[in-house]
Amino acid sequence: MPFNEEQQKQMQSEQEQIRKRVKQIKHRILVLSGKGGVGKSTVAVNLAVSLALSGRKVGLLDIDIHGPSIPKILNLEGKTIQAAGDVILPVETAENLKVMSIGFLLRGSDDAVIWRGPMKYKMIKQFLKDVQWGELDFLIVDSPPGTGDEPLSVVQLLENADGAVIVTTPQEVALSDVRKCITFCGQLKLPVIGVLENMSGFVCPKCGEKTDIFKSGGGEKMAREMNVPFLGEIPIDPQIVRACDSGKPFVYHYNQSQTAKAFEKILNPILELDSSIQELIETQFLQTGDKKMRIAIPLAQGKLSLHFGHCDQFAIFDIDDSISKVINRKDAAPPGHEPGVLPRWLHENNVSVIIASGMGQRAQQLLTQNGIKVVIGASSGSPEELVSAFLENALETGDNICDH
Ligand code: ADP
Repeated sequence: MPFNEEQQKQMQSEQEQIRKRVKQIKHRILVLSGKGGVGKSTVAVNLAVSLALSGRKVGLLDIDIHGPSIPKILNLEGKTIQAAGDVILPVETAENLKVMSIGFLLRGSDDAVIWRGPMKYKMIKQFLKDVQWGELDFLIVDSPPGTGDEPLSVVQLLENADGAVIVTTPQEVALSDVRKCITFCGQLKLPVIGVLENMSGFVCPKCGEKTDIFKSGGGEKMAREMNVPFLGEIPIDPQIVRACDSGKPFVYHYNQSQTAKAFEKILNPILELDSSIQELIETQFLQTGDKKMRIAIPLAQGKLSLHFGHCDQFAIFDIDDSISKVINRKDAAPPGHEPGVLPRWLHENNVSVIIASGMGQRAQQLLTQNGIKVVIGASSGSPEELVSAFLENALETGDNICDH
């Protein structure tokens, strides 16, 4: 049944609230798996704790409706949701680490099983919209497993997440679930930060030697075949089970173990996300020779700059032409404002369209000479709204507000 006008307005307003909420978060990472039980939540927790230990401000959001295990792993069972007005407050479990789990809302582990699809969707949306994280460096989202409606809602509602870490096991590598999960990310234009092979070999609790029970290394081969990065292997380690069962985050309490070091290794690509995200998008989504659209919007104090030459930042959006959708936003400060510098810098950054409010003749000329399409006279709206309107051919433009 199509949505009526009022429902559409409500959905747009909720999506805008989610955008506002996540704007304060530098990197949004989803932890996904082709199926349950492969260690997705264990990885999400240890990733979040490792990032927090490295001094980053981290939020961990557990929206795995059918198996929210994060309260157990972090010894937060029995906690209830704290609200203040319209917002939900996350639990601060350690320095730099805030946690919110859908498990705080369920009375028993079977609660969610009886929910129908729309209820689950509503719950996921509410969590993304209402949890007040404040400023964060990273939000790690423990998503529902598989490639069904629930992970789909998470990816769509989060819009422009940096990417996904996909957790698999050696046995699962041979199955199609994990491949489906990678294809799912590809279809949704969600970059795969990497595949992680969990339960890869067994570490003897007595001598510490690693034995490969199932053939390990398949994850790496599969990642190569599917053209996504491989992050590394985490062995089966009885200490992980003990840590999870006793609510002690593994990497914190067993930080000298080989397994904790394996976790540490997978962190590097995530810490380097600022510089690598563009590369991920280029290798995963753009075929050689593809001409992609990149739209830049000049900003002054976060808003559309009334004059092109007075901006202090550019919001730069990558667009997937085939679906006219934004696949990434990054903000960048331009170099100095001497004549000709900005057009050259935008050209070097492969910008193909600029949406501005006011712009002088000379700048327009230089941009056009650099092969950049210039749209002038935009007057209001967030950068996202301006880009969406432009892609839908609905951007309203007035006069060139300031043309000197
Ligand atoms: P998922 O989120 O994919 O359903 P969990 O993270 O809840 O999976 O893990 C399932 C079980 O496997 C938990 O009991 C957890 O302690 C255990 N586990 C996960 N990774 C490992 C590992 N590398 N070694 C040993 N046990 C593990």
